[in-house]
Amino acid sequence: MEQKDEVQKSTGQRNIEEKTVGSKGAEIKNTVRKTAGSKKKRKRTKKRKRNRKSLWQRIRGAELDGKSLLIGIGFGALLVLLVVLGIFRCSSSKEEEKTSGLDLDASEPEISVQLLDVNEYSRPGTETDPITGIVIHYTANPGSTAQANRDYFNGLQDGHGTSVSSHFVVGLQGEIVQCVPTWEVAYASNERNHDTISIECCHPDETGVFTDKTYASMVQLTAFLCRKFQLNEEAVIRHYDVTGKNCPKYFVEKEEAWNVFKADVKAALEKGEK
Ligand SMILES: [Zn+2]
Repeated sequence: MEQKDEVQKSTGQRNIEEKTVGSKGAEIKNTVRKTAGSKKKRKRTKKRKRNRKSLWQRIRGAELDGKSLLIGIGFGALLVLLVVLGIFRCSSSKEEEKTSGLDLDASEPEISVQLLDVNEYSRPGTETDPITGIVIHYTANPGSTAQANRDYFNGLQDGHGTSVSSHFVVGLQGEIVQCVPTWEVAYASNERNHDTISIECCHPDETGVFTDKTYASMVQLTAFLCRKFQLNEEAVIRHYDVTGKNCPKYFVEKEEAWNVFKADVKAALEKGEK
């Protein structure tokens, strides 16, 4: 240990000597690192100044003529330009991919409230936990209307053993029917029934693609509910994200369409804030 201390001490002394020499104008590569407090800071600043000076001297020493200097600056500028262009291109193409350009906001859409009778098969009357998500579904019943789906849910009370419902159904013409109050549990999203709002969406055919009117109402209703429950588009999920079920079919099979939907909800929310 003592030996080591001595070595360190003598190294320190050598460094100080080197520094002294350096200040007289010789080339400096290593200077003292282990100095205390404010002294250290002052010495660093001095060192930087010296380095700058020596760089300039080096440039002059190398007899860098005007031509090579211009070429250097030219290359530098070109590099900066390319980087800027690259960033701009990336961000703009990202924007283009994102939304479908719908002019929607998060205001309350027109809703036909037709609450189901309280019954054990479709409206248990159970209060939800705080709402943390919005779950999107498709009816899997091509061509059926919002009204028909609502009436089906209500008819389940007559007892066939099936338990299913949804807070909202969005129809083929973009009409919205509410079946269950948002503070009560609906039977749509399995283990997420207790803390989510469900939206069933009608579709004209087997592909599960939504009509433009259905789609627009889905975006506005979802944005409205997000704002109501202080959520953002990240809280919007598919039934698929809960159970792995192919629902809503189109948004499961076309991941990019799902991303566009969420981006549309986000855009509607941002517009609603203004
Ligand atoms: Zn579903």
